[in-house]
Amino acid sequence: MKIRKCSTPLCCLVLGLLVMTMACVSSKERIETLHRQALVWDCHNDLSYRVLYEKLDISQRLPGGHVDIPRLKEGGVDVQTVALFIQNFLFPDRCASQARQLLAAMLKAIEQNSDQVELARTGSDIERIVAAGRIAMPLAIEGGHAIENSLENLREFHRLGVSSMTLTHNVTHDWADSGADEPRWGGLNQLGRDVVREMNRLGMVIDISHVSDETFFDVIEISEDPVIASHSGCRTLNPHSRNMSNEMLRALAENGGVIGIVFVLPFLTPEYLEAMNELEAVGSPWFQQVPPIEDLELRIAMEHLNAGLNWPLENLPTIEDVLNHIDHAVKIAGVDHVGLGADMYPRTPSPVGIRGVQDYPHITRGLKKRGYSDKDIRKIMGGNFLRVWKQVTESGAPSSD
Ligand SMILES: [Zn+2]
Repeated sequence: MKIRKCSTPLCCLVLGLLVMTMACVSSKERIETLHRQALVWDCHNDLSYRVLYEKLDISQRLPGGHVDIPRLKEGGVDVQTVALFIQNFLFPDRCASQARQLLAAMLKAIEQNSDQVELARTGSDIERIVAAGRIAMPLAIEGGHAIENSLENLREFHRLGVSSMTLTHNVTHDWADSGADEPRWGGLNQLGRDVVREMNRLGMVIDISHVSDETFFDVIEISEDPVIASHSGCRTLNPHSRNMSNEMLRALAENGGVIGIVFVLPFLTPEYLEAMNELEAVGSPWFQQVPPIEDLELRIAMEHLNAGLNWPLENLPTIEDVLNHIDHAVKIAGVDHVGLGADMYPRTPSPVGIRGVQDYPHITRGLKKRGYSDKDIRKIMGGNFLRVWKQVTESGAPSSD
C-alpha cells in the first residue's frame, strides 16, 4: 500500500498551527472554568462611599470606577467585602454617626438589589448566598475610631451586620497606633486590648491593614482567632509602611490568618511609590484632580500632566506586579495564607491589565501561567478567606450579650 506523503511543508505547518490553536482554546476554556467554579473573593473596596455620597446605583455599570454589580458578575466575583471607611479628621464624636450613615446606605443598596446581592454576616452565609447564585457582601468598618472608644458601639455595629473591622486607618487614635502616624501607645493600650478580646468574643474578624508593626504584634499576641490584613502588600518588594515584613507574614501564617494582596499602585512598586511622593510634593492630592475615567492610561497621563510631571507609561505597575506580591506572600507565609484585597477606588488607578473587578479572570490566568495548581488557585482566589470567616464568625457570642 502506498502511503500518501505530505506534499509540502506548508501542510505540516498548517496542521501544527491547528493543533496548537486547539490546545490553546482548551487550556483557555479550562482556566475560565476554574475561575467560574472557584470562590472568588475581593476582601476590600470602598464602594459604600460612592453609594452614600455620590448616590450611585450599584446595579448599573457606574461611570468610571472599578466595582459595581455588572462588573462583579462579568469578573466572576462571588464575594465583595465593602468597607465603611471613616474619615480620619472628623470630630471624635462624629465617627460613629458616619459609620451608621455608610452602613445604612449600604444595607439599603443591598436590599434594593436583593435578587443579585445579599449581606453576609458569617462564613455559612457566604456559602449559602453563593450557592444560590448571588454575590455575597460582607461589611467591614475601616478605622477603629468609628466605635468612639465604646464597646457598646462595637456590639451595635456587629448586631447591624458588620463582620470585620480594620483597627486603624492612617491616624493613631485613642487605643491603637497606625502605621502612617506617630505612635502614642507603642501598639495597643488597655482599651485596644479589650477591643481585640471583644471582637474575639463576638466573632468579628480583626483586620490589621493600616496598623503599626507594634499594634500588629500586640494583636497577634492577644487574639485567640486568626486575623486578616484585608489589603496589604509585601515590604520586601516595596518598602512601604502599609506593606508587611517577612517577619509579620510568618507571624500571620502562624496565627492562621490571611493577607489580601492590595492592587493600589504606590504599594506595588518602589518606582511608583517614589513618583507618587514627588506628585504629592507638587501640590494638592493628585487623585482629586481628575474625574473618574475608566481608561487607565488616559487617567494616568492626565494625572501626571496635571501635576506637571512626565511619567512614562511603561513604568506603571501591572498585573504582573500584583502576581509578584502574591508569589512572595506565598513563599513566606504559605499558600494557605494569601488572598485578594484590591482596594480599587474610582479616583485611584488600578494596575495595567486590571481595569476593574471584571478583569479578575486575568489573575487566575496569571497564577496558572506561573505554575500554581488548581487547588492552590482556589485557595488564593477566595478559599482562604472563607476558611477564616467560618472559623471566626461562627465561634462568637451573639452581639446582644
Ligand atoms: Zn485602606
